[in-house]
Amino acid sequence: MQAIKLGKLTSPFTSSIIPGMENTFKKILLGYQAFRQKYVLGDDAVMHHLANNGQQPQVMVVACCDSRVDPALIMQCDPGDLFVVRNVANIIPPFEKDEAHHGTSAALEFGVRVLKVRHLIILGHSQCGGIQASLNQVDIKTNDFINNWVSLVKNHNHHQQADDFAKSALLDSYANCMTFPWIKSRVDSESLKSICGFLR
Ligand SMILES: [Zn+2]
Repeated sequence: MQAIKLGKLTSPFTSSIIPGMENTFKKILLGYQAFRQKYVLGDDAVMHHLANNGQQPQVMVVACCDSRVDPALIMQCDPGDLFVVRNVANIIPPFEKDEAHHGTSAALEFGVRVLKVRHLIILGHSQCGGIQASLNQVDIKTNDFINNWVSLVKNHNHHQQADDFAKSALLDSYANCMTFPWIKSRVDSESLKSICGFLR
């Protein structure tokens, strides 16, 4: 594996920087250069504000890992706008305070209790591979983590179409969301709005 210090890549990209790199990697490096051009070398007000004041996002998004549904890209947000946690099938697990390692729950706690976001969006999407995996559990029975993770959402209405299941799974995640006492209390007091969204 070739280590790269992205911060050094401020000069125009040439293929000689990393001989043999794939076009896809060139694309992300060019993207990073464009990002620096916009937010660091251009108008740096956003980044200066974030550096001096820390992040104060008003919105948290729970989204899928799917490469097509990047919340910040889809909603054209600036750095600092969204606090995002992504997992397979944008699932919120139930509140389980035990010795297991709960990454999504930790992110929720950070967003809701530390950053005190005012909006929590559970963002589902069509053609979700995680939801499809849940529908086809027999086919993926040899996986280590996926089946157990997606079993958190139940196909109550025996949906055959993944998109239909994905929509109903959002309701499971919303219900699980309310098992977190510090989320429910903020929703009850209307200091936090929690909604579900679905991208087609
Ligand atoms: Zn997905």
